Amino acid sequence: MSVDRVHAARAVADELGVDVVVVTPGSDLRYLCGYAAHAMERLTALAVPRRGEPLLVVPRLEAPMVEASPAGALGLELLAWDETDDPFALLASALRARLGSAPARVAVGNRTWAEHALGIQRALPGSVLELAAPVVDRLRMVKTPNEVEELARAAAAIDRVHARMGEWLRVGRTEAEVGADIAAAILAEGHVAVDFTIVGSGPNGASPHHELSDRVIQAGDMVVVDIGGETATGYRSDCTRTYIVGGVAARGLLQWYGVLQQAQAAATAAVRPGVTCAQVDAAARQVITDAGWGGQFIHRTGHGIGLDTHEAPYVVEGNDLPLEPGMAFSVEPGIYLAGRYGARIEDIVVCTDDGVRTLNRGTRELVELPG
Ligand code: ZN
Ligand code: ZN
Repeated sequence: MSVDRVHAARAVADELGVDVVVVTPGSDLRYLCGYAAHAMERLTALAVPRRGEPLLVVPRLEAPMVEASPAGALGLELLAWDETDDPFALLASALRARLGSAPARVAVGNRTWAEHALGIQRALPGSVLELAAPVVDRLRMVKTPNEVEELARAAAAIDRVHARMGEWLRVGRTEAEVGADIAAAILAEGHVAVDFTIVGSGPNGASPHHELSDRVIQAGDMVVVDIGGETATGYRSDCTRTYIVGGVAARGLLQWYGVLQQAQAAATAAVRPGVTCAQVDAAARQVITDAGWGGQFIHRTGHGIGLDTHEAPYVVEGNDLPLEPGMAFSVEPGIYLAGRYGARIEDIVVCTDDGVRTLNRGTRELVELPG
């Protein structure tokens, strides 16, 4: 960790005419200064003004935690506040001192708690608050080679969980039972936390964000398994495979699934610098639409991934952002037949200098598991 990211945020803020960027505990704070703080009501905030030194506002009782974190080595000015202080007033006066007057434009983290954003607004009544995404996403979207390796490690860890699916995904078990085993395996295979476990069996597979239920898995069920976790460095995994349990897929079903495979492959193959997010989405959607299932592909093709599971860039119609080397995101088309079943294939990919690198390695076939 170095202070480079803080300085880069200051440069982008200056370029965009933002007077100060304020981020609070969460992925923006961890990204910019390496402090993985727990979000709570007491204000912790990194403030990066366009002029003057950045400062880290922390409750005094947590100052030792900052010193012990990677942020402690960055030489950031620490503004430690006591229990009876008003941290918003302290932040406001520190900003006035640096900028010479109150900031006109204050960009706050997109996932900053409302009570903190409104506290800042109260302390700076003449300032206009806006979202910090245009500043921090510009940096966070383009991963360094180190970050790509962190995502590759996370992808390998979740691939190992999918490879073991036959141990748990069986006829007669409930989705919840299978999900509990998967969650344990996510931790055992190299994550520090489970982000989500989706086991959508039979008709539940037609609901893309269905998580777990007490439905008992039947012979011949299609099952959508979408799982992800957080590694020790904060980087995330997210991978979907579709299984058929205790049965053999009929030819018609394989043809239908083949459309999805083609769509997923087409979108992945479309990835290279200069191609827009919308074009990647269109590459998947065209294949599915041509096959007559366009109305059943009811979500965008993908989302960026890094310290958050869902972050910029979003691979969706209308997003004309051109891809750059280092951008990492999911490619995850799905087809959902309400009341019957669904299927999705999801990999994390990275735009490279001349094409694409797929981080997930497991088979994208419809996996037949014995009952
Ligand atoms: Zn997913
Ligand atoms: Zn995803």
